[in-house]
Amino acid sequence: MKHNISITKVTESQVKNLDFSNIPLGTTFTDHMFICDYDNGEWVNPRIVPMGPIPTHPAAMALHYGQAIFEGMKATVDEEGNPMLFRADKNAARLNTSADRMGMPHFPEDLFVEGLKQLVDLERQWIPPTDGSALYLRPFMYADEPFIGMRAATHYKFIIMASPAGPFFSKRIKLWAEKQYIRAVNGGTGEAKAAGNYAAAIRPTELAKAKGFDQVLWLDAVEHKYIQEVGTMNIFFKIDGKFITPKRDGSILDGITRMSVITILRDKGYEVTERAITLDEIQEAAENNTLEEAFGTGTAVGIAYIQDIGVGETIIHVSDESPVGLEINETLNAIKTGKIEDKFNWVTKVE
Ligand code: PMP
Repeated sequence: MKHNISITKVTESQVKNLDFSNIPLGTTFTDHMFICDYDNGEWVNPRIVPMGPIPTHPAAMALHYGQAIFEGMKATVDEEGNPMLFRADKNAARLNTSADRMGMPHFPEDLFVEGLKQLVDLERQWIPPTDGSALYLRPFMYADEPFIGMRAATHYKFIIMASPAGPFFSKRIKLWAEKQYIRAVNGGTGEAKAAGNYAAAIRPTELAKAKGFDQVLWLDAVEHKYIQEVGTMNIFFKIDGKFITPKRDGSILDGITRMSVITILRDKGYEVTERAITLDEIQEAAENNTLEEAFGTGTAVGIAYIQDIGVGETIIHVSDESPVGLEINETLNAIKTGKIEDKFNWVTKVE
């Protein structure tokens, strides 16, 4: 379906003020944003307008009852400078999985992709060209109906913002295995990319950082025994030449990097098993010297190499190097910048 997206352009682009060699993370936004309203049971008035504040009623339901979900993805450029999107259809589908859990309406997946493409097309000079840099895209939906009372809202906004991000240098990270606070429980909202999940993770993350760790390793809510994910990433372990990653059970996010890494690893001949993984078996593998590497996967950083895991007073030393993680990161980046053949058909050119 071809959607009619109206476009109101800024009179003068601010891209001339951006120092591409020093992009402040998360605070720079492009000239425009995509907006669509949900009204009377349908999505109406898709438009691209100058980026800026949106008047919000203080009773807007998202502010009180938390109907707010989001996505995160990146646009990159190939060697000729053509913008490209990576598996945007998966983000569109995941937004709707989140919407289902939070009692929110679906957003049409073809309009999600079309809105992204038209926004990225308009903002193409904002995509940083250096390797590892990208234009971060943040599609999100929230309840903007002014109403006090506990029910699904009847008015929502769907917006896409774009923010240039410089190259990310993945330092080796130290994780804190969190046994007091939990992120998600079966039947909860862990598989939804819902704003409230992140709010609940802020305090435990601050506490872990104060102890000298970089990220929280989230454990299951009942026994604090099974590994779920790490910070805002999924997690992989290499033990005795084979990879394992926690299986999806409704409490972890269905990461698009996770699914891509599973495919790439298998394509390179590695065995990958999705199953329940205990912290104890990781500790045992470290003691037996069969734990070879571990890494987190996510859109923001690609692959984050794991050095150590703190479990109470004990430190599990994972590894000082992550050769396979590094190779996978390079493969992912090469696909995203058109340097190698896109044999899985993951990349869409914005034309
Ligand atoms: N888990 C959580 C909780 C996340 O927020 C993210 C980032 N979206 C991920 C995992 C990784 O998902 P993706 O690879 O799709 O970025």
